[in-house]
Amino acid sequence: MADAFLPYGTQWIDEEDVAAVADCLRSSHLTQGPRVPEFEAALRRATGAAHAVAVSSGTAALHLSALALLSPGERAITTPNSFVATSNAILLAGARPVFVDIQGDGGIDLDLAEWELERDPTIRALFPVDFGGRMTDPDRLARLRAKFGVIVVEDCAHSLGATCAGSGGATVRAGACRDADAAILSFHPVKHVTTGEGGAILTNDEAIARRARLLRSHGIERSTFADGGRAFDEAGEANPWYYEMNELGFHYRMSDLQAALGLSQLRKLDRFLAKRRALAARYVERLAGHPLVSPLHPFDPGAAYHLFVVRIDFARAGVRRGALMRELSARGIGSQVHYLPIHRQPYYRSLGHGGEATPAMDRYYEECLSLPLFPKMEAEDADRVVAELSSLLGE
Ligand SMILES: *Cc1c(COP(=O)(O)O)cnc(C)c1O
Repeated sequence: MADAFLPYGTQWIDEEDVAAVADCLRSSHLTQGPRVPEFEAALRRATGAAHAVAVSSGTAALHLSALALLSPGERAITTPNSFVATSNAILLAGARPVFVDIQGDGGIDLDLAEWELERDPTIRALFPVDFGGRMTDPDRLARLRAKFGVIVVEDCAHSLGATCAGSGGATVRAGACRDADAAILSFHPVKHVTTGEGGAILTNDEAIARRARLLRSHGIERSTFADGGRAFDEAGEANPWYYEMNELGFHYRMSDLQAALGLSQLRKLDRFLAKRRALAARYVERLAGHPLVSPLHPFDPGAAYHLFVVRIDFARAGVRRGALMRELSARGIGSQVHYLPIHRQPYYRSLGHGGEATPAMDRYYEECLSLPLFPKMEAEDADRVVAELSSLLGE
């Protein structure tokens, strides 16, 4: 990709993907059809979760998980270092977020989360984010669940395919929900595999999956009935028109077109992951000993590397981040900031947030920059990014 503009992230669609979607277009199913359960089965295999519920976006997956697990007025710990959708889901369920500071790798600081849980026994849930593709420590999650009975919803939008070592030498997979009540995925084009827009809820709890399926489609039941008034005729035969709405739900379904693309993309997940990891390793190697730029954490072979984030000493470099981003862009290199501290967003301030002490997040926000990382990139592209970055920083 020698001369092409390098965005911070982008999809990789090949002719196989195009053919899969074209096949679907020629079939009789455009809305939810047979490809959606097929895609859900593929997601179960990819993550190890017992249930997968495909929905229209990662945000919808977060919303339905929050509705399935939280009650209005409850409090849920989450991180300021995420896309706003994570804490918005807590608000949309009528619950209240408690923002806890981050640790060095950009993930939530579980020591601080534990301290909050000890201080405030009314906190019901924890919504961690596997930031950048590195899993939230599963053994720590297990401990917090055992000690406080806290509900865990893991935002795995960055971590599809990630693994880490759990206690007893076990390998824990992101989204397997070994230590979470539910997890969510996003299939936005910058994520590991795409469906255009799309998401999924993963869980090992059948009741959560059932409720997510119900809320995904207007709260309508077509097979089991609470009332059943006219479900059957006098001869005991099912009335074909009959359905019941027993809850106030949404239209958050995924279409077969999206699932067709997702199925095709998911077959390439291992290749995409290998490429992301190789590029991240290259960046880490090229940045070793750099006086102004450092990777967020040492190379982690289990991380899924949705992002490659560096911290830059802008003060010492005498360069402002905005100017650097514009200059990089002029040289064909995209970059991004992940993330603006959620609790300081105007809407969150209007709810009384913003005053939380999050020194690690604040410092991180001043220094972070996400460099281009996507599977179609080559090692030379990463080298070019490092070279241009160094030259703009005067190194
Ligand atoms: C992308 C993302 C989401 C939202 O996913 P959409 O599919 O865009 O709705 C939620 N949380 C995190 C951490 C994300 O990166």
